[in-house]
Amino acid sequence: MKTLVRNGRVALDGRIQSLDVLVEGGRIAALGALDAASTDHVIEAGGCYVLPGFIDFHTHVDDEIGPYYLADGYESGTRVALENGITTLCTFVTQGPDETLLRAMARARAKAQGQSHCEVLWHLTPTSFSPGDIANLKVLLAGGYRTLKLYTTYKAAGIFASYERIEELFQGLGSLGGCFLVHCEDDEVIASVDAAGLDLAKPFTHTRLRPEEAEVVAIRRVVTLALAHRASLHVVHVSTLAGARHLVEQRTKGDLSFETCPQYLFMDESWLAREDGYRWLCSPPLRGNRAPFLELIREGAADVLATDHCPFCAQDKDRWDGRDYRQVPNGMPGLGALPHLAWKLWEDDPERAALGLATQLSLNPALRAGIGDRKGALRPGMDADLVVLDPHGPERPLRSTPSDAYDSFSGFTSPLAIRQVLLRGEVRVQDGRLTQPQNPMGSPLQPDVSSLPLT
Ligand SMILES: [Zn+2]
Repeated sequence: MKTLVRNGRVALDGRIQSLDVLVEGGRIAALGALDAASTDHVIEAGGCYVLPGFIDFHTHVDDEIGPYYLADGYESGTRVALENGITTLCTFVTQGPDETLLRAMARARAKAQGQSHCEVLWHLTPTSFSPGDIANLKVLLAGGYRTLKLYTTYKAAGIFASYERIEELFQGLGSLGGCFLVHCEDDEVIASVDAAGLDLAKPFTHTRLRPEEAEVVAIRRVVTLALAHRASLHVVHVSTLAGARHLVEQRTKGDLSFETCPQYLFMDESWLAREDGYRWLCSPPLRGNRAPFLELIREGAADVLATDHCPFCAQDKDRWDGRDYRQVPNGMPGLGALPHLAWKLWEDDPERAALGLATQLSLNPALRAGIGDRKGALRPGMDADLVVLDPHGPERPLRSTPSDAYDSFSGFTSPLAIRQVLLRGEVRVQDGRLTQPQNPMGSPLQPDVSSLPLT
């Protein structure tokens, strides 16, 4: 099967060029001025951008967080992802209490298999660090798993890692080619906030209990450790100007990167002051004074734009009795909105916006996830994951998730239309809808752990 994507504005090597793209056997076969004569299928992409399939580097699906099960599983999460051009969903496998990481991984794989409309990649979140677990992490890092997630907070949830623990891991595993994803909010700064006099019935108090300083302190500590031990570090969901600036300054000294999320760009803490502000509780919290942060990100400072999609069911958010907002599950959906909101950063310059998507939603996350040899760019030999994006709509409301969760971006609209999405060369989305909703073809990108020499 040969498919020619004809006459599109193609993101290639950091430029937008008018080219045809030939797809054969699931891969990009050629780019250039190509002859349609011997092809089986032609997609006319005139007036559209042709971009490498997007990657959401940070999502939570099919997970139980505290007493709450997320609204999206692999099926619904990957469905809204693919319908919006996201061809690879990166999500987490978290080692539960009394569970081995391997058992957690097998559980996630069983649930994703046959249910996923786009590709799935797991970041591993180890929570116990026994010698056996560390030995297995070494095998996993050598065997195609490249990303580990650590938290500098959330002691009660059992996922906290102290700076000493983080240093140990940077030292012990840092040279094996993996990348550490770190949630940076300093637990001591958070614990030291004097809650007396703060009104816990008001979700806005969240901005006081998890202050900007907590993020900045943790980023500084973790960056220093990563540089000292030459570990690759990716800081997730950066929400502060000072934190982002520090990362930009230090990035030249080692292998550092960071992401931010649309909610930290297009929303501010005033959303938490609304009557229904508890729906926008997330950690780190929405912040004040967004203009300079937005400007820095518009300049391209963030390596990656990702959602931190964490869709709690509407009824679970609403179950709150109105007394202590800390009972409300923290997180919001965003998956289906990601490419649209990333576009909004540069919407006054569509070519810049298209390149921004190709870089921050595709190339950089692919490299960070360790799949840059297959995904993230439109080069011959790469998987033919591509998006035909029409910047001329019509304008439509955003939809972050098909599930029963409040849409964090309700009221936001987008001029982008997703004409086609190809996954490994097959047209799986036509005009924003799955072509084969009953027949998902996405698959886990990493090897089955049973094929690895684990103990
Ligand atoms: Zn997250």
